[in-house]
Amino acid sequence: MKEIQQIPVAQASRTNPFARVFDELTAFCRSRSMFMLHYCTGCGAIELPPAMTSRFDMERLGIQPMVSPRQADILLITGYVSVKTLKRVILTYEQMASPKYVIGICSCTVNGGMYWQSYATAKKLNDYMPVDMYIAGCMPRPEAVIEGLRGLMERVRTGEANGWEDYYRRYDYYLGHQQRLFGEAWQTPTNVIQEAEHYGLAGPETEGEHTALLRQHQQPLEPLEMRIGLKERV
Ligand code: SF4
Repeated sequence: MKEIQQIPVAQASRTNPFARVFDELTAFCRSRSMFMLHYCTGCGAIELPPAMTSRFDMERLGIQPMVSPRQADILLITGYVSVKTLKRVILTYEQMASPKYVIGICSCTVNGGMYWQSYATAKKLNDYMPVDMYIAGCMPRPEAVIEGLRGLMERVRTGEANGWEDYYRRYDYYLGHQQRLFGEAWQTPTNVIQEAEHYGLAGPETEGEHTALLRQHQQPLEPLEMRIGLKERV
């Protein structure tokens, strides 16, 4: 698989000063009002309740929990990610609307942590999806979680938290890692290439050998059938 260096995504420059002020205001408001979907995969999740409740109260920063990926801005992954879990994490991430941000809590998300020898865990979360902020530690204390969230808010305000753009620009790279772990028939219901085109982010690294493989295996999605099954019950 071709390894590609992380390249900072260029920021769009707006020449009109009013447009720039508007952009900055939008980014400020976005950074102060974020909904967080927490995917508690490992033991590090135990530090979230104190970070969220009255002791440290993350809501005072403008961050509060959300139950659905469709309305969430932040995907928080708290701890080691098994191969089975990672599939759900990627499905969840792709369902979130852009712009979206990922935080990996715990050393296990950085490099596998104490499970680095396990056959069942994914070692580096950022091989499979872009991670905007890591909060390392085994496990990080609530103060560190709050500090990490504040760091992400600042990166959102300054426009540096642009991992979601990277996923579209370098989809072939991420998909390649996903295929290596899950098998070449791996697919999700989201048409990421079409979304990349929608956001104007499709580039030379969006498609490649791995998206070609995806096309070979992709099954058309069937519409969901909702059946009440009254007859069967009678
Ligand atoms: S870093 Fe430590 S606390 Fe966090 S998931 Fe891994 S083993 Fe658990």
